[in-house]
Amino acid sequence: MFTMREYVLAESLEQAYSLLTKGKANSILGGLLWMKMGNKAIGTGIDLSNLGLNKIEENDEEFKIGCMTTLRDIETNESLNKYFNNILKESVENIVGVQFRNSATIGGSIYSRFGFSDILTALLALDTKVEMYKGGIISLEDFCNMPYEKDILVNIIIKKNNCKSAYLTHRKSKTDFPVLAVAVSNSENGWKISVGGRPIKAELAYKAQSALSNNPTNEEIQTALDLVASELVYGTNMRGTKEYRELLAKVLVKRCIEKIIGGTSYAN
Ligand SMILES: Cc1cc2nc3c(=O)[nH]c(=O)nc-3n(C[C@H](O)[C@H](O)[C@H](O)COP(=O)(O)OP(=O)(O)OC[C@H]3O[C@@H](n4cnc5c(N)ncnc54)[C@H](O)[C@@H]3O)c2cc1C
Repeated sequence: MFTMREYVLAESLEQAYSLLTKGKANSILGGLLWMKMGNKAIGTGIDLSNLGLNKIEENDEEFKIGCMTTLRDIETNESLNKYFNNILKESVENIVGVQFRNSATIGGSIYSRFGFSDILTALLALDTKVEMYKGGIISLEDFCNMPYEKDILVNIIIKKNNCKSAYLTHRKSKTDFPVLAVAVSNSENGWKISVGGRPIKAELAYKAQSALSNNPTNEEIQTALDLVASELVYGTNMRGTKEYRELLAKVLVKRCIEKIIGGTSYAN
């Protein structure tokens, strides 16, 4: 369990950022579910609960999800899930249990860029940006490749791009970490294939996604699947070997593509 010298309920983002950057050990507090697993000595713990950042807002162009929104709020938001073919719901519904998801925040989840992250995998397949207090609006893809800087993740912004999308994961048991997670989307801008839990954090398979035309042939799909296995790095841990994950990636990506083009429904 962590220790905390001082707790501050922030009155503004400006105050929160100033406190965060004042001391090396100062930290933003999300739902605390990951932090409580560690033994960090926190100086000032900064709580953003009072800043109205626990909402999912929608306009004609985008969805905006505040950093203190819980994974459960995302799972149960009808409009968001209807628009993105339920992939956000499906990416979080295996994470521990409802009580857990009622506390875990999207800010803590995405800021952490975990190698096992289901929701990071799903959001990367969409047209997603993160709004950082100091760093401004950055594509999620760029954010994934950035070092961990002291900043506040304020909002997640997902563009309404009329995409079709699908998400699949393989787990040894229902609430365990994923052995592999895959999200695929297709919009007028082409395909996106995101593979996470390798157990390295989610990445897009650029070569594979560009091998697919809008209405892909079987040959194109086969080429894409071979590329998915060869262009990304897969690793071995207690949940599976590198070789197993490479094979699994091909299967899950194929099923996601089929779900999108053919309406085939695979149970997760
Ligand atoms: C037992 C367990 C099992 C899990 N299983 C899975 C799983 O199967 N799949 C999966 O995808 N995830 C899983 N997770 C991760 C979980 O879903 C959350 O992502 C995780 O708990 C972080 O969310 P939090 O709100 O608890 O963040 P916290 O623990 O509060 O914070 C995590 C980190 O993010 C920082 N932070 C928090 N909010 C912000 C912000 N707005 N701006 C900047 N920094 C911020 C904190 O300072 C801290 O460094 C699991 C976690 C646990 C503890």
